[in-house]
Parts: sequence; structure tokens; C-alpha cells
Amino acid sequence: MRYSQPAITENFPCLSTEGKRFAWFHGEVVPGWKLITGGAGELTCWVYVESADRIIVECGGVEVPVALSWSSRHLGGKQMAFRCPKCGAPRYKLYKVGGALVCRKCSGLYHRSQGESVAIRRARLAISIAAELGAQAQPYGDSDPPQPEGMDSLTYNRLLLRYRLAQTEALAALAGGMAAHLASRPVAMDGYQ
Ligand SMILES: [Zn+2]
Repeated sequence: MRYSQPAITENFPCLSTEGKRFAWFHGEVVPGWKLITGGAGELTCWVYVESADRIIVECGGVEVPVALSWSSRHLGGKQMAFRCPKCGAPRYKLYKVGGALVCRKCSGLYHRSQGESVAIRRARLAISIAAELGAQAQPYGDSDPPQPEGMDSLTYNRLLLRYRLAQTEALAALAGGMAAHLASRPVAMDGYQ
């Protein structure tokens, strides 16, 4: 089972308030469309400032209105956040998933550390059990490690059950990230599903 694009944030370009992308914008109306050049993992898009509270983001040929929220910075000045077009929560990053811009929660995406930690932990467990059985480490192998000579059947079957469970859970953790992503994918806005 292989995914060309795991459901982790790193694989989806984000629109971010961080860095200098929006340094030119302090809540005033700026005429015309402005190009936001994204860095690594960031979205390059056109932005139109409608008011202090609303911008339009041209995203994959679709114009997505994004409401803004402003909060006071501790050391003075204002901090801008996007309101997620789906849930309305103020967020510093929105991800382009399909034809829509949504926050990480609405997108169902995982951070790399989140998505992989469970899968890796379970895979590691499977490997260590396989090692107990004297088998070569095969975290996602299809065949069971054979019963070592001298090991009684009860012990072998107990270890085998734990091994299969750890393997299944490792795969489920990987697939779960993908399923959550697919289930939360917004209805296509530009014909791209
Ligand atoms: Zn959201």
C-alpha cells in the first residue's frame, strides 16, 4: 500500500500570515490584485484586499473570499489571522486542499510528527516482536515470521498475535490519516475532485 501524497500538512501549500508575505498589509484597503510569492511549502497566489476585514484569494482559478481577524500584539501593533472559510476560526495558516482553502483542523491533515508517530511506534513494535521470534524485521511484510525451533506453540502464537496486531495498527494509523483527509475534502469548487 503506497500513497503518492500522504495527508500531512507538508504536502499541501499553505497561505501563511507568518514571515514577510503580508508585511505590506496593515488593514488598509490596497487597490488592485497583489501577488503573494510563497516560499517552500507555501502557496503562490493573488490577493485582493476588499477591506480590512476581507480579502479575496485567487486560488487555482477560483476566487475564495477570506475574512480576516485582527488582534493586538503584546508589544504593540496588530496581528492578522485568516478566518477559516469553513469553520470561521482565526488561523495563521490555511491549506489549499482541492479547490478550497481550509484550516488544518477542517482539512483533516496531520503534521508530519502527528501522522507518523503512531504508525512508526506500531511498526517498531512489530519489528521488535519479529526480532523476538528470530525473524528478519519486516514491518509491513505479508508473511508471518516462522515458529523458531525450540519455541513452544503457545508462546509462538501469543507473539504472532501481538505481531499481527501491531502490524495492523501501523497500517491503520497510516490509512487513517488518508481516510480523514479524503472524508474532509471539500466539495469540488472548480471541477477538480
Ligand atoms: Zn477550519
